[in-house]
Amino acid sequence: MRTGTSLMAAAIDMPPTGYDTQRKILDVVKWPHPSLRRKNEEVTVFDEKLHMLAVNLFDTLRKEGGGVGLAAPQVGVNVRVMAYFDVQGDKAVGKLLVNPKIIKRGEDTDVDIEECLSFPGIKGPVVRPTWVEIEAQTIDGKVRNFRIEGFQARLFQHEYDHLDGVVFIDHLDQSSLDKNLLKLQNQKNEYANEGGSEPMP
Ligand code: ZN
Repeated sequence: MRTGTSLMAAAIDMPPTGYDTQRKILDVVKWPHPSLRRKNEEVTVFDEKLHMLAVNLFDTLRKEGGGVGLAAPQVGVNVRVMAYFDVQGDKAVGKLLVNPKIIKRGEDTDVDIEECLSFPGIKGPVVRPTWVEIEAQTIDGKVRNFRIEGFQARLFQHEYDHLDGVVFIDHLDQSSLDKNLLKLQNQKNEYANEGGSEPMP
């Protein structure tokens, strides 16, 4: 039996394995994995699989040192679910949002340096509204409306972008992209070397 490129490709771009009933640490896909650009489906069934996805997202975040937010497409599961830690002082409260929508955005913007678990070692300044009003469902399907601001608003918008197939480098200006060019190229090469199929920009 040969373990050629085709097998490797299958392994790296498999159907979602993080969406089942098993508790486990999930693999975070790295750009340019196609999962980061795929359409993410609305969640309509609030079942054990969804609960376990939430548990696994938080477990995975805790394992990834410094990670504060993770969206389902980053673990190869193309559904509209995100998890993040709302950090207040030395307390971190886990937030799990299902089918979130931005109802209203603040007109004021600010800029801050962002990083992403799908882009290890890459960072750059991103301009975003300072607050957003959100409607989202809980893990049990209950609808909640709330307004967030500051760092939590930034974090939410970063993860929300993932649900629309947008990644933070899409927001970087040319000079920031240039600064990260080598690292981005390395990620592309790494993805290709691992036999990744259909990379997307
Ligand atoms: Zn990200």
